[in-house]
Amino acid sequence: MINALKNSSELLNDLNVGVVLHNPATEILFINDSALKMLQLTREQALGADAMDPWWNFLDEFKQPLALNDYPINQVLSTQKPLKNLTVGITKNDGKTVTWVMVNGYPNFDQNHQIAQVTITFIDITDKKLDIPFEAIVSHANDIVLVTEAGNIEGPNHPKIVYVNHAFCQLTGYQRHEVIGKTPRILQGKDTSAKAKHCIRQALQKKEPITCQLLNYTKSGEPYWIEISISPLKNSLGEVAYFAAIERNITVQKLHELKLEEEANTDFLTQLPNRKNFIEKATQLLKDGTQYPISMAMIDIDFFKNVNDNFGHDAGDLILKQLGQLLKQNFRKTDYLVRLGGEEFGILLPNTECDMAFNLLEEFRRLISQRDMPVGEGHSLRISLSIGVYSAKNPNETLTKMLKHADDALYLAKNAGRNQTQRFKATTI
Ligand code: GH3
Ligand code: MG
Ligand code: MG
Repeated sequence: MINALKNSSELLNDLNVGVVLHNPATEILFINDSALKMLQLTREQALGADAMDPWWNFLDEFKQPLALNDYPINQVLSTQKPLKNLTVGITKNDGKTVTWVMVNGYPNFDQNHQIAQVTITFIDITDKKLDIPFEAIVSHANDIVLVTEAGNIEGPNHPKIVYVNHAFCQLTGYQRHEVIGKTPRILQGKDTSAKAKHCIRQALQKKEPITCQLLNYTKSGEPYWIEISISPLKNSLGEVAYFAAIERNITVQKLHELKLEEEANTDFLTQLPNRKNFIEKATQLLKDGTQYPISMAMIDIDFFKNVNDNFGHDAGDLILKQLGQLLKQNFRKTDYLVRLGGEEFGILLPNTECDMAFNLLEEFRRLISQRDMPVGEGHSLRISLSIGVYSAKNPNETLTKMLKHADDALYLAKNAGRNQTQRFKATTI
């Protein structure tokens, strides 16, 4: 084959097509004049050179350094198949001008079906290649583009930011020099989801792409939501050298979604969690099984129908609102409040045994019974509450059972004359 090519070398040299013949160790055995011209090498430099030699400055279609594994000769060797129409850029000595070539590669096999030589051909397509100014496009994009190093991602100051575009500065209020060399963690804050951060971290560790939603904060501390897509970028050695994040500002849409979600979970009148929301959260809490003993209280306003009948429905609504507020003010942030329906409320008290729950509820009942509640037009009235309490000691209770037993105890309180708190008694069922 070499001889055959040598005999035809005059013909090959006159061709406008670059032709290079490699052995399986990637060394160049033959190269024609056109190839030398396109690669800007002398024949002495080229002959014997292999893929590891330092003078190959190849670019991919997007002007990124071509990874060693993606060199045409290495692609043919690894796939053992012809390579068709790969666009490669060859950087000139000035580092700026690029010659674009269309590359094809053909393996030649010996009798043992091993690759004996690889022929690489390339034609100059510089005139046909669109020279797209990707950097300018990225710089002016409406979406945020943020690039970090990938070498070191561990520790509170890593990974370090190496590039941000104009949209980033516009949204965050940071100037470029204030963030270059810092970590994107400076954009995270108190309500940034730990779960989302964990997912991103895992993807970076595995050098895998990831898309998720994230809450970030501007320089002045304003929260904003982004949909972030992070992709690993390789250098010429095929190593992941950078992570490029493309971030879309989804604050308006996200706030709308969160509002709808909150509305779906909140009782319109009292602004307490509604029954659906309570059941979801309480079921999860009981399933976790960590916060025992746990108590359930059910509260019902006594003779509430009379309030509506005597003072009107709006007055009744005002009482319900005030009771909702007072519940919020008098119970712990860790207790789960709910308007179960009508004039009936519930409280799930984690880490609270029966006596403690009973005392807390009794204290609240007393407070309400002594409180004048405005019902409009200068009028006010007092209401009383009947309360039932049930406590579960073991993590095997279902919410249905806890609600049922608290309701049984409430029934006891009503029957015993109202305006009182009763514990669940097993004999009552
Ligand atoms: P008891 O002591 O047995 O609980 O008597 P009650 O009158 O409180 O009980 P009943 O179940 O007979 O009446 C509950 C009343 O609560 C009837 C209903 O009109 C009123 N109610 C339920 N939801 C609302 C509401 O959203 N707003 C107002 N104003 N009233 C409501
Ligand atoms: Mg009632
Ligand atoms: Mg009732």
